[in-house]
This record gives sequence, C-alpha cells and structure tokens, in this order.
Amino acid sequence: SSVPSITLNNGVSMPQLGFGVWQVPDSEATPAVAAALEAGYRSIDTAAVYENETGTGKAINASGIPRTELFVTTKLWNTAKHTWDRDAVLRAFDDSLAKLGLDYVDLYLIHWPRTVRDDYLAIWRAFGELAGSGRAKAIGVSNFKPAHLRRIIDDSGVTPAVNQIELHPSLQQTESRAFHTEHGIATEAWSPLGQGKDILGDPTVAAVAAKHGVTPAQAILRWHLQNGTVVIPKSVTPSRIRENIDVFGFTLDTGDMTAMNGLDTGNRLGGDPDTFD
Ligand code: NAD
Repeated sequence: SSVPSITLNNGVSMPQLGFGVWQVPDSEATPAVAAALEAGYRSIDTAAVYENETGTGKAINASGIPRTELFVTTKLWNTAKHTWDRDAVLRAFDDSLAKLGLDYVDLYLIHWPRTVRDDYLAIWRAFGELAGSGRAKAIGVSNFKPAHLRRIIDDSGVTPAVNQIELHPSLQQTESRAFHTEHGIATEAWSPLGQGKDILGDPTVAAVAAKHGVTPAQAILRWHLQNGTVVIPKSVTPSRIRENIDVFGFTLDTGDMTAMNGLDTGNRLGGDPDTFD
C-alpha cells in the first residue's frame, strides 16, 4: 500500500517515508533515485554537501512523474569557512535549484546550526524570503536542538516546518520530539536505520521482526512511522530500496513498541549540534 503523508505547519503535505542519498556519488544517484521512484518513493532527500544534486535531479526529471506528486528536499551547506549573510544564502539556494534542474524545492533545510559562528538567525531570515517567493514550499532546519529552535522562533516569528535530526532506536531524542510536538514541528529522522550498523543486529529488533515476519530494517522503520516520525532510509541496492518502502502491511503492537523504546542508549553516530562545525 502507498505511503501516508503528514501535513506540515504551513499546510504543505509531506510523504512520511522518503529516500535519502547521503554518500551516494553523483553518477550513482541517478540509478538509485530512479529505482526509488520506480519502487514508489515520491520524496527524495539530498543536500548541497552530498554533491549529488545533479544526478538526483536527472532521475527526477527523467521519471515522467508530475512534479506536483514529488517532494524534493535539499539543504544549505552553511560551511564553516565563512559567516553566512542573506545574499550568500540566496546564491547557494539558486545553485542547488540549478543543479537539481528544478524551479522549486518542496523543503529547504539549514543543514547544521553551527553555533560557534552564530549566523543561523540571519540564515533563517533569508529562508523566510525563500518561502515567501514560493521557490521553497516549506522551510525547516536540521540538527537543531530545542534551544536553537527557540532562538529562531523568537527572532523571526517563523516556526520551522521540519527539524531533521539523528534518530533511531539507539538515539530516541525524547526531549527534541516533545519540543517539536509542542511547537508543531515535524520530526524527520536521519540515519533512521542507524546507518545499517549495530541496531540492525539487535536481538530485541530481531525478535520483533521475526514475530511479524519482516526484516529488522522494516521493524525499525515501522517503529518510527508509528511514532509519527518522517523517515528517509538510504540504500543503493534495489531489493533493499523496495524492502524499505514495504512497511505498510503490518503494525507493531504496544509490546513491540515498548520493547523498542527500551533500546535508547543516547549514543550518537554523527556530530553533536552544539559543537559540530
Ligand atoms: P540509514 O540509517 O538510512 O542507513 C543506510 C544504510 O543501512 C545503508 O547504507 C545500508 O548499509 C543499510 N541498509 C539500508 N537498508 C537496509 C536493509 N533493508 N537491510 C539491511 N541494511 C540496510 O543511514 P543514512 O544514509 O545515514 O541516513 C538516511 C538519510 O538521512 C541520508 O541518506 C540523508 O539523506 C539523511 N541524513 C541527513 C543528515 C543531516 O545531517 N541532516 C545526516 C545523515 C543522514
């Protein structure tokens, strides 16, 4: 069955499951995104820093799928090299659109807060202009903690539609998720499968998966979906690409959810937003 959508705080609808392309080289992004679209994915998550917006856009534009049925996300790489002002943000956005070969994106995210430079308030104001122009249907952030979110909301009066954060059964982000719910921000999980590392071999996950006759990856994706989280699993293997979207034919029960809720260790695979630069 097909992927449900959630409604963002500006009324835009976003598929709850999409396809991520981090670490996919530009030339491989075209066949990988084509395989995902063929498998039924309609949401694609890329970023300027992934250096595969061109290859991703090629697959999107060659697919023949009406643009209105697709949901494309990219992200501003607010590099550590310099402080970002409004014009630099607008130029970076234009560059991403040109590489994608699109005239709008559905979601544009600030990739990291990069707190040491303290320029994310100015960046967020420029994002407001992009939303106003209609070239970004929704705007949001990534890797923002509640304190960072509070600052941009207080400064601009504009609440991000989405916060994309590292989230998987080993890092459940309880505090952030509660803040997002309170403020109407959609939670989007990056590395929802824990980057295919330890969590896929966890015995609790294996037991839940076996009980439902599904794979560990499918059980984990289901856990996210039933928590209301948006997921963007990555794979370049067509069989896994299909497996990761085939998660709408079973439901975890309360006991399964409780068991998986017990797997939180708080260990990050990626950087800590307070210090990452
Ligand atoms: P992921 O959790 O999606 O795991 C992907 C890896 O898991 C694959 O490379 C593969 O090794 C394995 N895998 C995938 N499907 C599998 C299956 N069915 N069975 C067994 N193994 C499987 O990791 P990710 O790519 O880090 O995260 C997903 C997406 O999140 C990225 O592609 C990117 O779009 C986004 N992301 C964003 C940020 C950010 O800072 N905003 C950071 C990391 C990732």
